[in-house]
Amino acid sequence: MSLFSLIKVAVDSVLSVLYPEVCISCGNHPPIRKDIFCLDCKSEMLITDHFDVKKNEFVRKMEARVDLLHAAALFPFITSGHAQKAIHALKFLNRPEVGIILGRQFGEMMNASPHFIKPDLIIPIPLHYKRQQKRGYNQSLMFAQGISESIGVSPSSKYLIKSQSIISQTTKGREDRFENVLNSFQLKSFKNLKGENILIVDDVMTTGATLEAACVKVSQIPEVKIQLATIVIAND
Ligand SMILES: [Zn+2]
Repeated sequence: MSLFSLIKVAVDSVLSVLYPEVCISCGNHPPIRKDIFCLDCKSEMLITDHFDVKKNEFVRKMEARVDLLHAAALFPFITSGHAQKAIHALKFLNRPEVGIILGRQFGEMMNASPHFIKPDLIIPIPLHYKRQQKRGYNQSLMFAQGISESIGVSPSSKYLIKSQSIISQTTKGREDRFENVLNSFQLKSFKNLKGENILIVDDVMTTGATLEAACVKVSQIPEVKIQLATIVIAND
């Protein structure tokens, strides 16, 4: 057994207490082993084709705006669907393990994908510290940690920082929204990241404004290569 496998087994056993006792969506049945959904809910869920298709929906939404190696979401967003319930629990019901468990699954899909290239670093979309204090964790970092366990690459929150709180974006148009998000991000101490392959992760891909802003900032790194990962993709 390799050192990494040993570490992974150790981490799995430490984190095993985090598996939910009932399905995160229906709340009725026990989840499948190492999952958050029961068999009934899981069998109703669609998985995207993003890991197998080079020009997938995610890539097509982003490619005119940023230069990418690849991008993928695990699930399509369906209103009141199982994935939406998982995102709701992750963001609003103090269930950080949802991000970790879905991150592990994402990482396994990445390992099997012919289109993802193993990154050097994972950067989660940051939360403003006030929001993080309120929630208790950054949901994107939880997702990043799960991916990290499956692919053996560390996440770091020290490079991309959120410097101002955005009160409301609902009244803003797409351009304003993008500028607003862009101005709220700062890239720090990135000189040692030259030429690295960076996986930027977020919980939900909707308009892509947040991910685009993060890509613009991360592109300050000379010769950087970028890949994107989210739990769900929604129609904007
Ligand atoms: Zn269920």
